[in-house]
Amino acid sequence: MESMSTVMAPLATAEQLAKYEAVIGLEVHVQLGTNSKIFSTAPNAFGEAPNTLVTPLCVGMPGTLPVLNKGVVEFAVRVGLALNCEIRPVSIFARKNYFYPDLPKGYQISQYDQPTAEHGWIEVPLDGGQKRIGITRAHLEEDAGKSIHEGFKDSSKYSYVDLNRCGAPLVEIVSEPDIRTADEAYAYLTELKLALQFAGVSSCDMEKGQLRCDANVSVRPVGQEKFGTKAEIKNLNSFRFVKLALEYEIARQVGLIEAGGQVVQETRLYNSTTGETVSMRSKEHAHDYRYFPEPDLLPLKISKAWLDEITASMPELPAAKRKRFVEDYGLREYDAQVLTLTKELSDYFEVAAQVSSNPKTTVNWVTGELQGALNTAGKDITESPVSASQLGELVSLIEKGEISGKLAKEIFAKMMETGHSAPAIMEREGLKQISDTGELERILDDVLAKNPAQVEQYRGGKTAVIGFLVGQAMKASRGQANPQMVNELLRKKLEA
Ligand code: ADP
Ligand code: MG
Repeated sequence: MESMSTVMAPLATAEQLAKYEAVIGLEVHVQLGTNSKIFSTAPNAFGEAPNTLVTPLCVGMPGTLPVLNKGVVEFAVRVGLALNCEIRPVSIFARKNYFYPDLPKGYQISQYDQPTAEHGWIEVPLDGGQKRIGITRAHLEEDAGKSIHEGFKDSSKYSYVDLNRCGAPLVEIVSEPDIRTADEAYAYLTELKLALQFAGVSSCDMEKGQLRCDANVSVRPVGQEKFGTKAEIKNLNSFRFVKLALEYEIARQVGLIEAGGQVVQETRLYNSTTGETVSMRSKEHAHDYRYFPEPDLLPLKISKAWLDEITASMPELPAAKRKRFVEDYGLREYDAQVLTLTKELSDYFEVAAQVSSNPKTTVNWVTGELQGALNTAGKDITESPVSASQLGELVSLIEKGEISGKLAKEIFAKMMETGHSAPAIMEREGLKQISDTGELERILDDVLAKNPAQVEQYRGGKTAVIGFLVGQAMKASRGQANPQMVNELLRKKLEA
């Protein structure tokens, strides 16, 4: 049967798109960062020589039996808690049967109808608000190996199998079809990744395949309640590609319907070179996984006591941290969001803010001067030569009026270079702020003598010119004059 989906229809116009609404649900696989694999003692690592991180179990030798890694279960519970899920007291492992060269057993151990975590949600920050996206479930499973194809352009063709990843612990996180636009999908993924990183379960490095996403999308006329037929898009290896693929797919489906066709349920692949999605297999060719309970593993029981213990050990998650930063430190939403982009950055900020006692000025220094300097140096916040308390100390010196903002920047540059504290640098370089009245008067007398025209203007009523004279005095003192004292003394002299 020739399906209409294979018939070319033009992509929808903006006008056509406006008549439809997309419905999106995401399936995200996250590799858990435990030391060993889910059912064996093999190291759970990336980047090693092929087929070196394997036990007989990993390669599917007959007679081997899986032993569940308790650490993996704890991580899965943490995932569930981070996503506000209910944790099932009993969950069941199931066999998902399919054949593939990188799956030597011929089945994957997964969970099916009784997953470890279910019925959760996350609050996703969107422009001008928040949106709650439901989490259907987060279930545990083992990863498969990797097939590597080489030389297909030549006459010789080689395919290799690397089983290092076989049995790496995964959670699959399935969202409710609550997402409505490609931008919302992007925001959901960003928040999900952040929550998992804060929960300490995974680095979520997409380049290492630690986070992988499949996107399900359908469209329906605005106002219609019933969902349309969905397509599942695979092969999305960045959040940007998820967004681009969804935008393309929504336009394809609407275009198809508007041309009189019908969307068919199928799996599609995203081609990042052409920016298009192409059909991979239709529903008729969908796998029948013949799920059944895994006979080699007991039901997984999580006691109330253990669950309480894990709950108590959960760190503060990004949403809660943002809220606290706004409420306790009086930060703007935007600043709170920037500061919680990584746990390390938010920790840095908090230490610096506590030392400086001025959170708002501290935000400006952390997100401005510090991050700028770190970017230039190609360094991460964890590698910052200036420690959080050193930055806090610098900010407190500005706040106490001991150094001007301009001088602080000079001192900061030297702190970045040497890793020394602000007081140490000021001592060594004689960079103390000049607050001595006698010395300031000498500087001011000199400035006034050199700028008679401005002095006359001031005395003639154009008092705004004082700004220029203050600037000259600061320059003459190499930024070291106490600006407040300069202002006061100058005014006295001009009005004398
Ligand atoms: P399948 O059995 O095909 O894997 P599921 O019901 O398990 O489908 O859903 C998989 C994902 O697809 C979930 O994230 C879900 O929210 C999403 N989804 C389900 N139905 C639709 C739909 N009509 N349009 C878009 N996404 C959908
Ligand atoms: Mg699935």
